[in-house]
Amino acid sequence: MLSLNRLRAGLFAVAASGAAFAAAPAQAQGSLVMYCGVQEEWCRAMSGAFEKETGIKVAMTRKSAGEIYAQLKAESSNPRGDIWWGGTGDPHLQAAEEGLTQEYESPANKDMHDWALAQWNAAKKRSMGIYAGALGFGYNTQQVKAKGLNEPKCWADLLDPKLKDDVQVADPNSSGTAYNLLATVVQLMGEDKGFDYLRQLHKNVSQYTKSGAAPAKAASLGETAVGIVFIHDAVVFAVQGDPIKAVAPCEGTGYEIGSMSIIKGARNLDTAKKFYDWALTPAAQALAAPAKSYQVPSNKNAPVPAQAPKMSEMKLINYDFVKYGSSAERVRLLTKWDKEIKALPK
Ligand code: PLP
Repeated sequence: MLSLNRLRAGLFAVAASGAAFAAAPAQAQGSLVMYCGVQEEWCRAMSGAFEKETGIKVAMTRKSAGEIYAQLKAESSNPRGDIWWGGTGDPHLQAAEEGLTQEYESPANKDMHDWALAQWNAAKKRSMGIYAGALGFGYNTQQVKAKGLNEPKCWADLLDPKLKDDVQVADPNSSGTAYNLLATVVQLMGEDKGFDYLRQLHKNVSQYTKSGAAPAKAASLGETAVGIVFIHDAVVFAVQGDPIKAVAPCEGTGYEIGSMSIIKGARNLDTAKKFYDWALTPAAQALAAPAKSYQVPSNKNAPVPAQAPKMSEMKLINYDFVKYGSSAERVRLLTKWDKEIKALPK
């Protein structure tokens, strides 16, 4: 297990020519196509603020991380996007390895936490860490009480038969959150026991959602007793007074390095770089909290939201981003999950 401090110190120790651009149409230089992997509200806050500050028109689409990765792959012979901002780091690393994104070194690198630079190094300069958040779950306090359950505190508690069809989690093919869970249980429990855990959990899962944060909303509304999500995504609803409690599981848990990458073949490369540099500033990173996003920002000088879960107080695994973000491992685990978990009868 690892404290965030050690994580920062240790694990985290883990161009287009101007001439080409001079030929680009003036209109293209003033626009940016952004694929956004966080919550819609934060995506809109970022695209709106950048537009206002620079006059550059942003066309933003929100999708889950696995979906954005798939879109980049599908569009690779004719790229439509310029910047992929947000979403878990694993699919960013896969895209980097497959040459779907491109190298960039921002002047803001010097202000980044070591864990953000570790992502940049792992991606061979093709992806930068923009925030960190730990995985866990949120449970609806009223539902849990009504079922006569003790408050769940551990991953093991989610296997209680009283929670049959009352747990929601996303599908790891589309969702970065759910892939983070898959990689977390494999690292925390070992692959055989981890898949065994997911098989048992399957009995309690009512549906695998497309988006990773959707189960937090469902738990806040009492549509499900438990939602497995990033802890900060459950905190959003706790902060607004909904009957939901966020949990960092007692056995230990994984975490994400939310990331940003410039898309290979970006038509608006200059504006993509401009956005990249801007998105790493303390002012841009401070837009998260008002948009109800409580991750830990990657710029050392950016304010950490008061509501951000305290990662330094959690048992965090030594998440192997290089391995679990590699193309071969991600494809292997997702194929195995499809075959051995999703295909199981209910
Ligand atoms: N929303 C927020 C605020 C996140 O931090 C993340 C993960 O980076 C996600 C959503 C993940 O979305 P998904 O699991 O749908 O890929």
